[in-house]
Amino acid sequence: MPKRVCVIGVGFMGGSFALALRERYADCKVFGFDINPEAISKALYLKVIDEGSVHLEDLLPFEPELIVLATPVGAFKSIGKALASFDLPKSLITDMGSVKGHLVYMMEEYLGERFVGGHPIAGTEKSGVENSVRDLFKGKKCILTPTGRTSHQAKEKVKELWTDLGCFVEEMDPYLHDYVFGAVSHMPHAVAFALIDAIIKLSKDGVDLFEYPGGGFKDFTRIAMSDPIMWKDIFIENRENIIKAIDIFSESLKRLRDLIIDAKTKELTEYLREAKKQRERVK
Ligand code: NAD
Repeated sequence: MPKRVCVIGVGFMGGSFALALRERYADCKVFGFDINPEAISKALYLKVIDEGSVHLEDLLPFEPELIVLATPVGAFKSIGKALASFDLPKSLITDMGSVKGHLVYMMEEYLGERFVGGHPIAGTEKSGVENSVRDLFKGKKCILTPTGRTSHQAKEKVKELWTDLGCFVEEMDPYLHDYVFGAVSHMPHAVAFALIDAIIKLSKDGVDLFEYPGGGFKDFTRIAMSDPIMWKDIFIENRENIIKAIDIFSESLKRLRDLIIDAKTKELTEYLREAKKQRERVK
């Protein structure tokens, strides 16, 4: 049971994690660091964290047992470097970033065997600490991405923590993680953003198509309301997998387009029937 935890990046995920921790472990104190002073003042006002600062070095006197990175993944490099320059011999370090692969090996270079890559498969399109949800992680998967170098003890502690917060923990190779989530999460987000871009282009001659959406459009494009900074970082850091997934998606879309152009009713129905069948498997 951790008693002093530092959350770096006090936004939606960091705030939800802090709330969940404080609910699960009554004696746990949370220190928050964020570059945005508003995030810290909101988090203190909402009692999401106990202490907070916009200066990373202020975490030193707090002596955290666990440090959790919850910033956009593009910030990991500078944070990893800064943490490596501090004297924090007793701190385990983990993260909640949506990209693992090379970032996990980079963080290990800075922080050594006490770094354990993690990614809770929980979230929404909302961002910011004011949207934090206490039971966000209950019943969700959390992927840990240990490497050959990860300390067994560190991994077990991080695993126990996520299990205590209600997650089903699964271990995965960091690069496999990026292939899997490049396909089932990052590519669908790319498609949703691009779909909105297409609707902007189709809205012409005084017709604002955004005035006419039905339930299908809203369901499909909810994730296009996600934070642009966070998604810019994910797209860049996992670009190889995302590009491959977008290419396969383009082939699938072209196949659909061809079936429609040629009015191949039998094959078109079969294409749609198979898609429906596979989608129904998702719990
Ligand atoms: P968010 O925008 O709500 O919060 C991010 C916070 O990090 C902000 O308060 C921002 O000011 C702060 N920040 C940015 N750069 C910083 C830096 N260099 N140092 C300190 N603080 C910094 O974003 P979020 O939704 O909480 O996402 C955080 C992380 O969690 C991302 O890595 C994301 O990939 C991952 N994640 C998000 C979701 C989701 O659904 N939102 C799900 C799983 C994982």
